[in-house]
Parts: sequence; C-alpha cells; structure tokens
Amino acid sequence: MILFLLVITMLSFFPIFYSDELLYSALARYHIRSGNKSFRQTDLELFGYSSQQVSKITLTNNLNYLVKNLSFFYRQTFDVLLQNHTLYPFYATFLTPQEAWLLKDSMKKKLSGSILEVAKVATNSTGDSRKFLKFCPTCLKEDEEKYGEPYWHRLHQIPGVLVCSEHSVPLLDSSIPIESKATQYHSASLENCDISISVIHYTDSTLEKLLNLVKDIEWLQNRKIEFKGLAWLRKKYQSCLISQGYISLLPGNKIVFDEQVFFDRIFDFYGKDFLDAIDLNLCTNRGKYFKYCLLGCDINPVIDRVTHILLVKFITNNFIEFFRS
Ligand SMILES: [Zn+2]
Repeated sequence: MILFLLVITMLSFFPIFYSDELLYSALARYHIRSGNKSFRQTDLELFGYSSQQVSKITLTNNLNYLVKNLSFFYRQTFDVLLQNHTLYPFYATFLTPQEAWLLKDSMKKKLSGSILEVAKVATNSTGDSRKFLKFCPTCLKEDEEKYGEPYWHRLHQIPGVLVCSEHSVPLLDSSIPIESKATQYHSASLENCDISISVIHYTDSTLEKLLNLVKDIEWLQNRKIEFKGLAWLRKKYQSCLISQGYISLLPGNKIVFDEQVFFDRIFDFYGKDFLDAIDLNLCTNRGKYFKYCLLGCDINPVIDRVTHILLVKFITNNFIEFFRS
C-alpha cells in the first residue's frame, strides 16, 4: 500500500524549461500535457497537496517536494529553480541576508502562512500592484515560431519591468490574473495573450528610461549586494539628503527637509510620463509617497523595491557606491 502511494505521486514526465521561463509557466505546460481535468489534480501530482497561496505564480513554495518529484527523470536543483525561474532574486533585494534566507526557506517547504509577508510584499503597493501576467507581443510571436508554443517569461513579470529589454517594446497585459485564491494553471496562449486588445505607447524618452530601469533591476538582483536593513537605508537616505543640501540639521536633532525642491528635481529627472507609467500614485500624491519611502521606510512592513531603486538612482546614480559605503 505504501509503495502504491509513492508510485502515484511520481511524475512520469515534465516539460523542459525554456530560457528565462517562469516556473509557473512550466507547471502550466505540464498541466496541459498531463491531460488532467482539474487544476487540483495537477497540484496534487506536482506538490502533493493543493495550495491556497495567492502568490504561487511568482513565489511558488513547497519546491523541495517538486524537486524530489522531478529528480526521477530530470535533474533540477532547488537553487536553480529558485534563482532562474521564480521572482525570488527580485524579492531578495532590499532584504537582509537573514530575511532573504527566511524567504528562501519558506519557498522550500509547505507554507501555511503568507509568503508575501515573508517577502515583505504588499498586494496593493506601488510597483507590486500588477494584476495580470504580462507578455511581449514580439517574444510571443518568436516563441510560437521557435518552440511551437509561447510561454511566460520571468523577467516580464517583475514589478517595474514594463518593456521587453530584448525587443524594446511595451509589455501587454494578458487575461490571466497574477493572484487568485485557488491555483489555476494557465499556459501562455494566443487566446489569453491578445495583442489586439491593449495598445500602449510610450514616448522615446520614457521608453529609454523604462529600458534603463529593467537593466537596473536585472543588475541589482544578479549582484546580490548584501543589504544592511531598512533602518540603515533610512539613515543612508538622510545622510545623502543632508550632503546634497535637501535636509538641514537644527539643534536638538531636528531636521528640515526641503521637500518641494527635492520633489521638483526628482520629477524633472524622471518626467511625468515615466512616473505615470510606473505608478500613477507617484504623480497624483506628488511627493508624499517619496517622502514616506525616504524617511519612513523602516516603519513600513512592506518594501516598495521599485520606488527605492528610483530613489537610489536619483540620489547617487551608482548602486555599488550607495550600498557599499
Ligand atoms: Zn520581447
């Protein structure tokens, strides 16, 4: 009986990962090939249980089980899955080594709590409020021609990534929600990636800034800079703002922040179109949100990584110098 139970949990096949494919995408392709009638059945085969994690698309947990499941015919390590096929490298940015370890550990096992809390991600914060899986219309066409099927690219799902760095075109929303209570496995297809529905146009200058942001995000998540914590970040911002003349120190440890000048300069630096594209709140709540991230980031239980990247870039233009000093 025990032998029988073990046998039915083994996978008899699994699709080979495509370049920079999101893990969820390969799981969805497995679902189609398996012929399973329900997503729950696919969940049971892949993970041994049916999960209710809302963030399973980007931060899949219980990966140790999946890796063991795959090992019978396909060598894949936990670290390879984590680093190359999930959004862990992005969410590990702005986490201390201990916090990143905790997130990694949470993705290894079956998790009963919220992985978003561990990753310090807000479902409705700026930059993270992406509702649908994204796709590049040119990648979609090329993948279809090359592999006979499209797939979800991992880089395209990272908050702040709004353009395809390979083709320099805006990413479009598919019809597949990025968060849903019950896990559903939807592979990318010409039906759910309809290029005729949404047309996005950016000015050349905004497009260039969006492409630079993709490079910055990629650089930051690949460099694995040791982060010293949000209290350190706040103090670092403060000292930069003092040295650049935006903050004056008064007796009794009081500070005066010349926020209007700071906001005018950062708005000039990035431009309204770019900030609108990243998140409308950055423009509509002119300045307030930046101030909150600059001087209150360590009291916030969640981290808006994209806004911090924009702030660091504006303040120093040099990530290495900023994080290492
Ligand atoms: Zn593309």
